[in-house]
Amino acid sequence: MQLRIAAFTVHKRFALTISRGTTAQTTNVFVEVEQEGIRGWGEASPFSTGEQTQTTEAIARSLQKIAPLLKAISPLERQRIEKLMAEVRLPSGARAALDVALHDWLGKQAGLPLWQLQGLDCDRIVPTSVTIGICSPETAQQRVLDWLGKGTLQMPWHGIQALKVKLGNPAGVEADKALLQAVQSVAAGISKLSVDANGGWDLATALAMADWLAERGVTYIEQPLAKGQEGDLLELYERSPLPIFVDESCFTSYDILPLADRVHGINIKLMKAGGLTEVLRMIHTARACGLKLMFGCYSDSTLANTAMAHLSPLVDYLDLDSHLNLLDDPFLGARFDDGRIIPNQQPGLGVSAARKESISRRNHDQEGM
Ligand SMILES: [Mg+2]
Repeated sequence: MQLRIAAFTVHKRFALTISRGTTAQTTNVFVEVEQEGIRGWGEASPFSTGEQTQTTEAIARSLQKIAPLLKAISPLERQRIEKLMAEVRLPSGARAALDVALHDWLGKQAGLPLWQLQGLDCDRIVPTSVTIGICSPETAQQRVLDWLGKGTLQMPWHGIQALKVKLGNPAGVEADKALLQAVQSVAAGISKLSVDANGGWDLATALAMADWLAERGVTYIEQPLAKGQEGDLLELYERSPLPIFVDESCFTSYDILPLADRVHGINIKLMKAGGLTEVLRMIHTARACGLKLMFGCYSDSTLANTAMAHLSPLVDYLDLDSHLNLLDDPFLGARFDDGRIIPNQQPGLGVSAARKESISRRNHDQEGM
């Protein structure tokens, strides 16, 4: 197969601040595999979990390195390709982009959308949350009203039903409480409200906040403690009235078993997992351990979030909102329907270019990056 790589930059409508910093734009990596005239598309977005960072440059460089090795291999040979990706130590974001492109190619070859190849029921897809980052209470209220279509901004999306609020504010727990109360004061009509501390709390704070958040009807808490503090999760798991999910503490299926006795659920992301192949392994491993599941995202465009939408009938909660917050998303794919991200009937991912010129042509000069 032929592999083409191009970089593209996307800008956020609302810059996103979490406990570790702020993101206003990212440069993502587009991947196209081609064989027998069929093209499969994939995407990687750069990310940092604090402990681990994958840059655009490192992802693109590693894909350039594997491209010549793939020339003699068919997109059908995914097991062989997975072994090769491990041998050349591709970062998980690069593996995700390639694996998604192979799935897109396979679906197009078969003439079926991925959700149908997996035999899934799209009626099971739950509404996605949209994320309110760390900001002042006044700004948070404005953001919520904008997302709900009651604010000053003209939003292209209507029907938001779930919100996720970023807590773990470095300014302290009183700032977290003020933010949550501000969001709730204007969140009429929101059926699910979750919080994500991105590891910004210690055990004592997490215990106190779990009680406080439970009294306010929050659904669950994501990554209350920093990665590396998993020992403290045992006590939190025993005493918290709210379900505890982990994100930064869980990258792949190998991470699940040691966490199974101390969390209620895990947040699976395409870029951490390294592709849909591993996402499926994580789903089945976690279910065998009796865990709840959610899908999350980094600064993914419609391409990567559509890939996850195809498997989303398998999970309990969805936070696939990054593309909804982009001003210049280059792709069209899964549709936004009454708060839900629903894949279409087209073969493969069902993703196309939003503008006439394709990403690979537009960024042709960046292929050597
Ligand atoms: Mg998270």
